[in-house]
Amino acid sequence: MAGAQPSISDADVRSLAAWLEARGEPAYRTAQILAGVHRPEVAGFADLTELPVALRRDLAEAWRFSSIADSHVIGADGGLTAKAVHELADGQRIESVLMEYQARGTMARRTTICISSQAGCAVNCPFCATGQAGFGRQLTPAEIVDQVLHWHRPPWRALGDASAGHYNIVFMGMGEPLNNADRVFEAVRLLNDPERLGIGARHITVSTSGVVPGMDRMVDELPQVNLAISLHAATDALRDELVPINRKWPVAEVVAAGRRFAARTRRRVSLEYVMIDGLNDTDEQADGLIEHARGWRSHVNLIPLNPTPGSRWSGTPAAGIERFVRRLRDGGISVTVRDTRGREIDAACGQLHAQLAGRSLRDARNEREASAAVGSEG
Ligand code: SF4
Repeated sequence: MAGAQPSISDADVRSLAAWLEARGEPAYRTAQILAGVHRPEVAGFADLTELPVALRRDLAEAWRFSSIADSHVIGADGGLTAKAVHELADGQRIESVLMEYQARGTMARRTTICISSQAGCAVNCPFCATGQAGFGRQLTPAEIVDQVLHWHRPPWRALGDASAGHYNIVFMGMGEPLNNADRVFEAVRLLNDPERLGIGARHITVSTSGVVPGMDRMVDELPQVNLAISLHAATDALRDELVPINRKWPVAEVVAAGRRFAARTRRRVSLEYVMIDGLNDTDEQADGLIEHARGWRSHVNLIPLNPTPGSRWSGTPAAGIERFVRRLRDGGISVTVRDTRGREIDAACGQLHAQLAGRSLRDARNEREASAAVGSEG
């Protein structure tokens, strides 16, 4: 049964070597296979033409080439953004997003892939479609790595810039990564492995809603990986509502864990702050945020809210964001506003997944192709 096979992207070197040895294959086959399945032009075991035909057939029987069974992809932003809903072997669905940024000024062209760490999420932030859909299950390391490989393979080939270093992976899709820390950390190691994709740890960001023990583990286990904290409010009263995990780890504890990470790793921590009109964009919240961000290696990243359907909230208008930015800068805080992507394809976390609930991905694909064909006839 296909669903019972492990994915080759999950294969640890020792078990793959033992599997090959049991078939009488030479030791060099392990490295050959791992390097092969991570080549961008390879779309299945049959493409590993350097291997004997019988071995390719045995591989296909014993291993799944990908833990992703099907994907539905929608493009936006003139081809610069693509969002996928992936279906896993047991029918759970997750999302990942590919974002290309063209060269601007002194900034080189770069690519960011946003991936999920869980199917659904238990944190239940009320502005987030994933949170509203509830928790499905933890993702395995292979299911995390295969999202990156999806964009690495034809027709996407997103890793073109990897060698130039303009390539980033962010754990900002569905799920709270540090509520699945063991598997997320293993996935980071696999992504990092020079025998596989070899993505530098400094090009990987783990974003957390504030799981303090997980942040402390990152200091010891993944000190080269970037840490982002989804703060979204400066006071406990408001954050209890916007990021309910705050009732377990309040703002002061979360910020203290961020400061420990920055002090021990000497790396800058990003404080993510979604801008909600009339709610967390007040002067009082700005002043509280200044207090939290001041005096250590932090950087505030403001994100205009992309409201979910039926949301009681809307995003802060541009003038309000400008005022908030000015106040933070006057308070001595380093701040940027995130470029929002894919609004026309519901690219905020969990929105496309919610839109496709109860429909097969194949039907969704066929409908989209049919409506594109009608559009081009008109
Ligand atoms: S914003 Fe992040 S932590 Fe909050 S519910 Fe959504 S996926 Fe979970």
